[in-house]
This record gives sequence, structure tokens and C-alpha cells, in this order.
Amino acid sequence: MLNDLKIFNTLTRQKERFEPITPPYVGMYVCGPTVYSDVHLGNVRTFLSFDIIYRYLTHLGYKVRYVRNITDVGHLESDADEGEDKIARKAKLENLEPMEIVQRYTLGFHKVMDLFNILPPSIEPTATGHIQEQIEMIRILEDKNLAYEVNGSVYFNVNKYNETNRYGLLSGRKIDDLLAGQRELNAQDDKRNREDFALWKKASQEHIMKWNSPWGKGFPGWHLECSVMSTKYLGKTFDIHGGGMDLKFPHHECEIAQSVGAYQQAPAKYWMHTNMLTVNGQKMSKSLGNSFLPEELITGSHQLLDQPYSPMTVRFFMLQSHYSSTLDFSNDSLKAAMKGYLKLSNGLKIARSLKFHEKQVAVNEKQVEEIDQLCDQCYAAMNDDFNTALTISHLFNLLKNINNLHTGKLNASDLGEKTFNKLIDTYLIFVQDILGIKEETLENHEHLLDILLDFYREAKSQKAYDKVDMIRGRLKEIGIVLKDMKNQIDWAYEE
Ligand code: AMP
Ligand code: ZN
Repeated sequence: MLNDLKIFNTLTRQKERFEPITPPYVGMYVCGPTVYSDVHLGNVRTFLSFDIIYRYLTHLGYKVRYVRNITDVGHLESDADEGEDKIARKAKLENLEPMEIVQRYTLGFHKVMDLFNILPPSIEPTATGHIQEQIEMIRILEDKNLAYEVNGSVYFNVNKYNETNRYGLLSGRKIDDLLAGQRELNAQDDKRNREDFALWKKASQEHIMKWNSPWGKGFPGWHLECSVMSTKYLGKTFDIHGGGMDLKFPHHECEIAQSVGAYQQAPAKYWMHTNMLTVNGQKMSKSLGNSFLPEELITGSHQLLDQPYSPMTVRFFMLQSHYSSTLDFSNDSLKAAMKGYLKLSNGLKIARSLKFHEKQVAVNEKQVEEIDQLCDQCYAAMNDDFNTALTISHLFNLLKNINNLHTGKLNASDLGEKTFNKLIDTYLIFVQDILGIKEETLENHEHLLDILLDFYREAKSQKAYDKVDMIRGRLKEIGIVLKDMKNQIDWAYEE
């Protein structure tokens, strides 16, 4: 299976056979969150897409070193190179240390990742933990004449870079396009050309998050941290670099220019970009006011939501589309996703309960072939640039067979032990390990216990002591003690 995987490389704009630089190791870098506000559901979609890629590569047997950074310098959020540091602004507003803001939102981000069963990366480096390395990379660029200093700020010289390289390879944009989005330079601007971008910015007196550097007190530019941390942990050229589509330009384009400029090596072999979660066709984003937070989704407390939706319903909803397509949020599709998720989830319970006991040797060749094909189709779909949407439709076909085994419409003996096990294993592995879908625990388990206590009371009043003992015994097996007191009956966890 290893050699069948194909990935759409946004750099070459082609689907390419995946050949890691040093198999069986795979280096993957994904741009992580900025930690001065809560992550919204759009961000979740991007991190979920890379979670699937991480899970599937791992399943195929690759040893993946997955690096996802934390952007904890609230520096230049745009290439305008101006404005207040977002983390510092929040810290001032709330009378906190910037690092308290960073800590709060980093913990919040981790909670959200856990909620949606998104696995932690192998390394989660922070921008503030790598200031020294960022300074060193600027020094290299200065040595190569690709960076220049003006008044304590350092800029990347895009035109100079373009003399020997091509800026814009990834996004297909030219310097003229870059200029289109920029206002004219004025006397207060330090940079020489509009297209240049900041590597280091001089900090004003009031600026809180600043560090010493050869150019005075300042802070690193937006694009630099990813170049530095990916190089440090994965090498100058590594396998996969990813992020949301909106990072392709200018963020990733600038990363390429920095790495090629400093080391004459392209940073990544495969570039992967996930598409956006939209609301009524518009990108979900905080600034547009159409974003909602995971907890609003779970409680249903948002004007866009008809009802609450569970995290696994949302996970399933997102996996029903390919990562490279836009996905539009709607209550109808979430409601449909809830049904789909519950079907898959019920299938997990059934699949685990089924055991092969038969002795018969003759099998139904047609059935065996059908199941073999279905299992292979699951791999084929994932191998085709991680097509989770198609994989799910094949899993539903596998599930039909599992349900038929459960109800007796299909005999395990018709499949034979090998195919029977293949059916069950493929279903469990794909749903749980590769798609990361898990059963959600019953929130109403206390109500279930109350119902059981009612049965106990009834059995006791009818003097059906065998039933009374059975209920007590079965509860004990799961660590619950039934407390039959003078005036009331209750339950407690066994101490
Ligand atoms: P940020 O914290 O804003 O840098 O975003 C973190 C990640 O989420 C980046 O990879 C973004 O490209 C991605 N992202 C932001 N908005 C959306 C959206 N509406 N849909 C999918 N991904 C998004
Ligand atoms: Zn980045």
C-alpha cells in the first residue's frame, strides 16, 4: 500500500505519487494557531484535515514527525507592518502579562483539539521560544544581501531575491500582483520597496513583547518563525508543509523566499492547502463576524444554530467533504451528518461484538469478493489524496454487511474466517484510527441509572429477589453500588 498514495501538491498543481525524502520517515510542518483569541470552527477544519493526513500516513507505516507551531508573538498580522501587537493589546485590556494571554489561549486551543479528537503533534514549538534562531536566520539573509536594515527594522529584499529566483512560484502571483494590494510608500515607511516584507521590526517604547537583537530592541516578522522552526526540527528540506489556503500567499510564499534565500533549498517537497469552511458562501472568520466557537456549537447557543451538535457529529460533517473543497456550514447538513455519524458509531459497537464461531469451510465466493473489493476501495479512496468523502461512502457499504451479519441476513460462514476478520478490522481501523471517529459517551447515563433503580424498586415490591440480586450484581460489575437505605434507594460509585 505504501507506494500507492498520491497527494495534490499545490506547488506543482498536480497530483503526485508520495515519495518521502528519507522513507520511512516523514517530516510534516503545519502552521499552527495564533494564541490571542479562541479558535473557531474554520480553524478546526484545517487542523482536522491535517490530523487525517497524520493519522493515515502513520497507519501506512510511516514514522511521522509532525510539527505544528504556536504563534505566540502577536506581531504583524498583515504585511502592512503596522498596528499594535494583538497579544499585548489584549494583555493591556485585561491587565495581564502577555504570556498569561498566550497560556490561556494555548490551553483553550488544546481543549478544542481534544474535543474533536485531533491528535497532538510530535513537536509544538513556540515563536517566542525561537527568537535567537530567528535572529540567526536574518543574519544569514543579510550576509547574502537579501536583507537590509533601516532604523532598527530589517526587511527582505524581494527584487534582489527575484534576480536569481522566482518569487511567487507557489501562488502563481507576480510582484505586480503583490503591489496591487499595497498602498504607496510614504515618508514614514522604512522599507525601500512596497513588495519587501519585514523580518524584524523595531519596537516602540510602549511595545511590550520585544527582544534584544543586533538591530536594537524589536520583534520578529510574521513569516520568519515558520521558516526557522521547520528548519530546526525537520531540516532545510522536508516532506510536507501545510496550512489553510489563505496562508498560501503571502505567508508561505515568503517562507519559500526566506528558505531559498538563506539555504538555496526549497523548504518543502509537497505543499498542501486546505480549503475554507464557509457560512452562506463566505469564509468563516472572526473579522467577518460569522464565526462560532466550538462551545457555542455544543450548546447550540448561537443565532446561526437551530440546535446543539456534538463534536463527533461535526467531525463527521467535515470529513464528508474533501479537504480541498470549500465546505459550507448549514443546519440541514449538520442534521444529516448527525444521522450518518450515529450510524457509523452504532456500527462500531456491533463490529466489536461480532465473533467468528463457525466451522464450515465452504464460502460464498461472490460475497468474499465483494467484501475484499470494498476493503480495497477504502484504501484506494484514502490513497487518492486523502479522499475522506469517498472513504465514508465505502464504509457505509461495509457497514451494511456488518449489520447483515448482526441481524442474521448474512452468515459469517459464507465469508470464512479470513474475510470476516478483514471486514471487521477494516471497518474498525478506518472509522476509529484513520477517521478518528469515536463513540460519544451517553450524557444521560444518570437517567439510565434512575430507570434501573425504578426496576429495582418494582422487583423488590414484587419480592422477585433473583431480579433484585441480578440488578445489584450487574451494577457492581461496572463499579456502581446500589444503596438500599431505610427511606430511600440510591446509587454511588464504589469507593
Ligand atoms: P489563524 O489562527 O487565524 O492563523 O488560523 C489557523 C489556521 O486556520 C490557518 O491554517 C488558517 O488558514 C485556517 N483557517 C482560518 N479560517 C479558516 C476557515 N474559515 N476555514 C478553514 N480554515 C481556516
Ligand atoms: Zn506558518
